[in-house]
Amino acid sequence: MYHNILKLVRDWYFVQASPNDPKAQSLPLSDELIGELLQYVTSHEVGHSLGFRHNMKASSSYTVEQLRNKEFTKKFGVEASIMDYGRFNYVAQPGDGARLIPIIGPYDDFAVEWGYREFPDAKTYDQEKKELAKITARQLEDRKLRFGDPDPAEDPSQQTEDLGSDPIQATEFGLKNIDRVAGFLVKATAKPNENYELLGEMYEQLLGQRRRELGHVVNLVGGFVRANLWYPEGKKIFDPIQAEQQKKAVKFLIENGLRMPPSLVAPEILDRLESHGTAGRILASQQVILRALVNKTRIDRMSEFEARSKDAYKPADLFGDLFEGMFSDLRLQPGKPIEVDLYRRNLQRAYVDLLASFLENPADDSDLPALARHSLQRVQKELPGGSLTLEDLSPTVRAHLTDLRTRAEHALDPIPSAPRPDRSPVVLPSRRRGATSPDQN
Ligand SMILES: [Zn+2]
Repeated sequence: MYHNILKLVRDWYFVQASPNDPKAQSLPLSDELIGELLQYVTSHEVGHSLGFRHNMKASSSYTVEQLRNKEFTKKFGVEASIMDYGRFNYVAQPGDGARLIPIIGPYDDFAVEWGYREFPDAKTYDQEKKELAKITARQLEDRKLRFGDPDPAEDPSQQTEDLGSDPIQATEFGLKNIDRVAGFLVKATAKPNENYELLGEMYEQLLGQRRRELGHVVNLVGGFVRANLWYPEGKKIFDPIQAEQQKKAVKFLIENGLRMPPSLVAPEILDRLESHGTAGRILASQQVILRALVNKTRIDRMSEFEARSKDAYKPADLFGDLFEGMFSDLRLQPGKPIEVDLYRRNLQRAYVDLLASFLENPADDSDLPALARHSLQRVQKELPGGSLTLEDLSPTVRAHLTDLRTRAEHALDPIPSAPRPDRSPVVLPSRRRGATSPDQN
């Protein structure tokens, strides 16, 4: 076992399960509870010693309703195999009474039977193979017995650190629990006459859990479910996620992932941890989501899905939905001033710059540069400004809008059409640092 597994299970249990377990709402956790968590880890490692690989399909075998059900989780655990990386039940809500710690599940019993059962009547290898095939055939009817390698970025049913068959629903409940943990974070971690080191550590853990859960939703977009079936049963091994579900995932990410909840930027926490730096941290976590969502690999996969099926969620749909969500607070509405806070301004700049990056040496085997170019043209043309009267804008928002349009313009037309006015012998130090001259772009 990993030498610092005690810390690892403490961190996971605290950020995932503590809202459902009053014993875990104050650190350190009791030896008794840590013992139970170690029992889970040990069972998993014994699984490896019996020859079992990780089965990352197993945690997507149960629905969110089942994960919140006391009787169901008591009997079947929180994932169909202890060999998954499902972790603790972050989906269950206070009052559900659901099991929180994984146990040996139906897939494990199935795998043990296939690997270790003896067939006294089978005299030859072929006879034994027939008996084994009967066991394997149960996978056709019972999805709890299916197997999948880790394939997180492409197949949302084979992700690590996830629970439940619907990542959007699971994350929706998970984020509620993260909100709850944020609410008792200071009380749970601070002790009289001690500093705030543990508070800082667990705050980072909480943000990490949030990133992981939102990442599970990202992977629905342009995702497919892979079935581990052979001929003749396996007819559609790679089955793209329904377009409607992909669209819902993007909407969820815009509303939840690209906005920071007040509970996680609460002065009660931040004033104890740092004077500044929060805006940068928030932007960094949102950039992780953006780059995971809009990159060549994912867009190219979506283009192929579009080529194969008219019902696909198209890359153009994604760019359209992102444009609407990303710049929704910049739309002019009569009698209503435009307000964009610092976190949103940072995000909007970062998105424009991300789009611009796809136009540097644009790939010719991808729709990505074309779609990025179209979005940048929309930034240039559709955001308020130009001839519009801007009385309703604060100086900061006015500058922000001009800046966004100028960034888009430069990305679309990097070669200046007229000589630059700065060719005087006086060179400001900040210009020197710019490194590239316009001719090199
Ligand atoms: Zn393992």
